Amino acid sequence: MGRSIGVVMTNDITAGLIEDRRLIGELRRYPEDPDEHHGLVDLPTDQLVEVICDRITALKPASGELDAIGIALPGIVRAGIVEDSPNLPQLKGAKISQKVEATLHTRGIRAPIALFNDADAAAAGLAATRNQLDKVVRVWTLGNGIGFGRYPDAPGPFEGGHTIVTLDPKETFCGCGGVGHLEGIMGHRAMRLRFMDMEPEEIFENAKQGDQRCADFVKRWHRALAAGTATSIHLEGPGRFYITGINIGFLDLFLLKQYLWDMVKMSPIQSYTLESIPETPEIAVIGAGTAAEIEQKR
Ligand SMILES: [Zn+2]
Repeated sequence: MGRSIGVVMTNDITAGLIEDRRLIGELRRYPEDPDEHHGLVDLPTDQLVEVICDRITALKPASGELDAIGIALPGIVRAGIVEDSPNLPQLKGAKISQKVEATLHTRGIRAPIALFNDADAAAAGLAATRNQLDKVVRVWTLGNGIGFGRYPDAPGPFEGGHTIVTLDPKETFCGCGGVGHLEGIMGHRAMRLRFMDMEPEEIFENAKQGDQRCADFVKRWHRALAAGTATSIHLEGPGRFYITGINIGFLDLFLLKQYLWDMVKMSPIQSYTLESIPETPEIAVIGAGTAAEIEQKR
C-alpha cells in the first residue's frame, strides 16, 4: 500500500496525506483561515517553499516511510522546474522540487518529490477516485486561469487553456498576454478585466435577469469552452472530459453540450462524455499524491 503527500497550490495551498488513493485525515491549508483571501501572488518563492514544507512536516506520519510527495501548481512544469506560471509569476524558473527537497532534508524528511501542473493533478485525482487510471481523462479547471489537465501525463505542454478560440484581435485578456485565448474569455481575472464595472458573479446573475450584454457574454463563455473541447477532440480523439474549478457554478452543461454538438460533426469522434464536478480541493490533492507515487514506481 502506497503512502504519499499531495500538495496543491492555486489561490491557496492545500495538502493531504494519501494512502492507497484515499485521503487520510484532515487537509492542511494555507492560509489556515479560509476567509483570509490574500492569495499567493505576493508571497516570494522562498516563503512559499517554507509554507509548503510546513504543511508536509505536519502531515508526515510519525512512523513509516513516505513513498512520494507530489506538488501541483498552475503553470508549465518540466523536470521539477516551473518553466512559466502566468498566474503565479514569481515561480517562473523556480527549482521548486530542489528547494522543497533541501528544506525537508534539514527537517529529516526524505522522499522523492514530483512536480505537476495543477490541472494534470486534478485529472489524475479524477482517474484515481473513479477507477479510471487505465483510461485517458481530460479535465478543464475554471478558475483565475483556465487549466487543462490530462491523465496519464504525456510529453508536451498541453496548455489547453490557451487554445485559440477567436480571431478577434481585440481579445487580449489572457493572463499570458496571448491574443484570442480561451482563458482570455473564461478566466476569472480576464472576466474582471472585460467587465470593469461588475464581478463575474454579477455578469452571470445579470444575464439571467435579461441584461443583453451579459447574456451575450455568457453564450460566448460557453461557446469558448465548447471550442476548446472540440479542438482537443479533433486532435486527440473523444473520451472523458470533466469540468471543475471555483467557477464551476457558472457552467450550464446543457448549453455546452449543444454548442459542442455544433462543432464536432465527424461521427467517429462524437463518442465523448462531459461531466461537471463540484470544486473540491481533495481531488487534486489525491491526484498529486497518487501520480507522484505512480511516477516513483515506474
Ligand atoms: Zn493565454
